[in-house]
Amino acid sequence: MAYVITDTCISCGACAAVCPTESISEGAEHYEINPDTCIDCGACEAECPTGSIHPGE
Ligand code: SF4
Repeated sequence: MAYVITDTCISCGACAAVCPTESISEGAEHYEINPDTCIDCGACEAECPTGSIHPGE
């Protein structure tokens, strides 16, 4: 389980700035979350201005 970033991400970087485990980095299309280091804290979801971050399934 890890949070995921969808295609509506505008690559603003707000999420990466708040992640306590530095799990978010800029990918080819948009920002991406590393599922191996994400601890499901939800901090990034609250910061995203476009609502592009959701809990994984
Ligand atoms: Fe980082 Fe928390 Fe978002 Fe996971 S849920 S990517 S640990 S801010």
